[in-house]
Order: sequence, then C-alpha cells, then structure tokens
Amino acid sequence: MATDPDQLDEQLAQLLDELTQRVQMGEVVDLDVVTHEHPHLADELREVWGAVMLADAVALNVSVTQAENSDEPIPEKLSQLELPALFGDYELLEELGRGGMGVVYKARQVSLNRIVAVKMILKAQLASHDELSRFLAEAESTARLSHPGIVPVYEVGKRDGRYYFSMKYIEGETLSQRLARGPMPPRQAAIMMRTISSAVHEAHQHGILHRDLKPSNILIDKSGEPIITDFGLAKQVTGDVDSITRSGAIVGTPAFMAPEQASGTRGAVGVPSDVYALGTILFAMLTGQPPYQGRTPVDVLLKVLEQDPPFPHQMNPRVDRDLEMITLRCMQKPIDLRYRNAQLLCDDFDAYLNDEAISARSGQFLQIISRLFRETHNAQVLENWGVLWMWHSLVLLICCLVTQYLEWTHDEVRWHYILIWTVISGIWAACFWYLRRRMGPVTFVERQIAHVWGSGLIGVACLFPIEWMLGLGPLELSPLLAIISGMIFLIKGGILTGWFYFQALALFLCAIPMALWPDAAHIIFGVVAAGSFFIPGLQYYRQRLRVMGEVARMGDPSTTIR
Ligand code: ATP
Ligand code: MG
Repeated sequence: MATDPDQLDEQLAQLLDELTQRVQMGEVVDLDVVTHEHPHLADELREVWGAVMLADAVALNVSVTQAENSDEPIPEKLSQLELPALFGDYELLEELGRGGMGVVYKARQVSLNRIVAVKMILKAQLASHDELSRFLAEAESTARLSHPGIVPVYEVGKRDGRYYFSMKYIEGETLSQRLARGPMPPRQAAIMMRTISSAVHEAHQHGILHRDLKPSNILIDKSGEPIITDFGLAKQVTGDVDSITRSGAIVGTPAFMAPEQASGTRGAVGVPSDVYALGTILFAMLTGQPPYQGRTPVDVLLKVLEQDPPFPHQMNPRVDRDLEMITLRCMQKPIDLRYRNAQLLCDDFDAYLNDEAISARSGQFLQIISRLFRETHNAQVLENWGVLWMWHSLVLLICCLVTQYLEWTHDEVRWHYILIWTVISGIWAACFWYLRRRMGPVTFVERQIAHVWGSGLIGVACLFPIEWMLGLGPLELSPLLAIISGMIFLIKGGILTGWFYFQALALFLCAIPMALWPDAAHIIFGVVAAGSFFIPGLQYYRQRLRVMGEVARMGDPSTTIR
C-alpha cells in the first residue's frame, strides 16, 4: 500500500472523482463502506467528503438531478405541475421559487379562504424513515414557535406521497434579493439583525436550531420587517457527513455555514453554529457580498474551513467599525470565541442602536491573545509525534553533551563536530521520518513541518563551512543554533499551536547566555532545546494514550450498553 504522500493525495483525488461521479449518476454512496475499502484514506476522506459533496451539489444541483433519476414521482410532477392546481385544501396559484429542499407555491387555503405559501419537500431529501419522522417532528415544533420574526407555520403534513408544510404568505422580497441591489445602511442592518437574532434566540429557547440561516431564508415584508423561514429544516441534510452521504441531498450554500457544520467532523452543530451564520448575514448586509467567495463552491468551502474571517471593510471601506466587530465576533472559527447565544448578540445590536459600548469590543485584547495561543486544527498531527519528540529531545541532549565534552577536552578537530551536527543528526532525522511513516500516512501539514525541520538542519550544517571561511574556530557561531531552533518553533507556532511561541522565545533568549558563556554554551542549548521538545512530546503522548483508551473502551463489548 502506498504511503508516499503524493501518491496518497493522488489516490484520494481519484477516489473523490469516482465517488462524486457515482453520486451524480444517482447512486447512493455509503461512506462507511468506502472507508472500509480504503482504510488508509479513511481520515482524509471523512474530513473532505462532506465538503466535496456539498460543493458538488451546489455546483451541479445534484439533489435535484438525483431526485429526478430516482423512482420518486414527486419531482417530475412538481416540475410539470400546471397551475392553478388543487392540492388537498390548497389551490396552488403560482410558483414563488425553488431551493435545495423543494418548491414554494403561493396558494389559497380553500377552507379558510386565505392566501398562504406551501412548500413541497422533494422526498429524495428525506432519505430514511427516521429522517422523515424527524422532519415532521421538527416542523411541528417549529409550528409552535410564535415570534414576529419567524414565519408562522400553519400545517405540516403528507398528501399523495408528498411532504409539505403551509405557512404565512409574506409579500415582499428575500434579503438576498434586497442585497443584490447593494449593501444596507448600518442602522437599518442593525435594526433588522436585532429582530432576526432575537427570533433565533426564541427558537433556541425552544430547543430548535435553524441550521441554514442565510439571506434567502430571511423574508422582508412590505413594512420592511425581516421574518425568518425554513426553521430546522436543514437538519436532515446538513446535520452530519453521513446523512449528506446517504441522501446525497444538500441544501444551502457553504458561504453562510459555520465551519463545524461544513466539515461535519469538527465538533457538534449547535447554538454557536446559528450565531456564526447570523454573523455572515450581517456581513452580507454590510458589504452586499457573502463573506467567502471563490471560483467554485469547493474553493468557498475550503475558505470557510481554513481562512480567518475576512474583514468587512476590505469589501466596503465605509463599513461601521462597531458592526464589523460584531460580525467578526460571530464568525470566529473557535466556537468559544463567538457570542455564547443569540441573545447576547441581540444585546450588542441594542447597545449599538443606543450608542452604547458594544461587548464585542471589550474582550478584544483577550480574544486576540487566546486566539494566538490556541491549537489550530492541524495540531492533531502532534498526537502522532509525542513519543518521537521525546526521543528527539534525548538525541539532541546527547549531541549537545558530547559536543560540550569535546570542547572541554579542547578538541579542535572541526570534523568531529561536523560529524555530530550533520551526519549523526541527519541519520537521526532520517530515522525519525522513517518511524513516523511507519505509523501511518503522512499528512500535508506534517510534510510542511518536515520541510521546516529540514531547512533547520541545513542551516546548522552551513554554520561549519561559514566558520571555516570566516577563519573562526569550530562552534564559535553556536549561539545561532538557538536562533535557528527558535525560528523552527516560531513557524510551528503558526501552523500548530501558539504554545510553541514560548519555546521559540526561550530558544531566542538562550542565544544570549550561549554568547556570554561560550564554555557552557552547548549545555545551555541542550537543556533548553531538549526541554522544548520533551514537554510538548510528553503532553501529546499522554493525549494520544487518552484518546486510544477512549477508543478501546468504546470498542470493548463489556462497556457497550445492550
Ligand atoms: P433553501 O431550500 O436552501 O431554503 P431557498 O431559501 O433559496 O433555498 P426556498 O426556501 O425553497 O429556497 O424558497 C424559495 C423562494 O420562495 C424564496 O426565495 C422566496 O422568494 C419564496 N418564499 C419562501 N417562503 C415564502 C413565504 N412564506 N412567503 C412568500 N414567499 C416565500
Ligand atoms: Mg429557504
């Protein structure tokens, strides 16, 4: 089996290509079966599959194609429906629009003689019986919500094999139609967002998440009041990667989706996911554009997963700075940096509208600090490195002690030192890499870090010829060892976790005593550098043991509840 990262990437790309083609042909792909067949690609596949499906579906309208290919009679009939048509108690008058989940009609409810909107759900969007009953349960609880900012749902049901719900007909336009004409004035945006976030909070209080908040799900009535629609309906299709996979059904656009929701593998979707989406809506109001844009939906998705939230003023320089802070606070990737709930967000709009200080500003410094020092999602690779880093710290310490010993014995033979710092460290680096690869496929970020280490090794090796050319004795440039190692940790701090900035600082500072007391330079460096590797190594080794312990417990039949 190939373990070369390039080959793995290529295999992953081929597999994704094949799977998306199968989905586009209308086949239901079971991710569990696929990962079982390709265990060496399982992790990567799980990480990107939801994203790829989502992006492909948005690009190619897979859900509709798939529905049309299936045995379900609904989509064909819906697309051919001659209006007006009678549907139970409803006379369907005109089509108002279509989205990922179904078609919306303006209709007259005959018994009550009132105009309503009827949304027919494409049945292919609700793959299993569980999902169907969840849809009904969720739609019914949504029907119990009563808030001026939420479109009232009148009836939920199934007729002639079609799932539908009727709701208040809102005459006006959607927020996305409004934003197509350009950004909104800041006060108007804040007033609308106050209503929207208080409505979302009300739903959260009743245990209902929206999960698909975006401008096309905000209707604006004739008096300019925003009203949210499609509460909770995205649950069945955007809740997790598996459901996306099984149903092949996607709604929404990734641009307004929280990273944990878009990836499907990064933590649970909850209240903060809706708070995130509210931030993206405010972003769109302030700039007239969605926060993340790309050539293809895959590009957008990768940005949602990887990039820091963009600053609204980059797209609209006249943006109000307070509202910008509110947007950024909502759109933080780490969940704990966002508003804890929609009410706190609503309070900030109140404060803004009353010209009071908003809370998004107050925690700014602490937020920057905590963002700086948090682990990035890349940091999970470190779990594989714990033991190796502890070994590395030992090898490093031995190299330093041997060097120091040679120095104390006044060994002036340059080659001895070159042997330790190039040949032996080179052999150890090769062993390290070999051991790492034996533990499983090497990820892209590990390759990046390996390059950083490699450049460090070359830097150290270069010190010897430079010393020789400058006419310096061996090891006179040794304080640069600390500087080079500090640089490696600084880069790792950016890629993996901000805690490495401390190691970087310790190493940079350690160059000073090394320069002041050259007789003890290598002991000083050995202790600081070995410690810099050993402490995180031990921490990640323990973390890995904990994770493996949990996995073992989950797999142990004696602990399974029967
Ligand atoms: P998604 O399926 O992801 O929600 P969407 O929001 O773009 O996508 P739908 O929810 O199907 O699509 O709505 C389609 C269109 O129907 C909306 O853009 C809106 O113009 C119209 N619409 C929806 N609900 C109502 C309503 N209660 N009153 C009036 N028009 C409505
Ligand atoms: Mg909608």
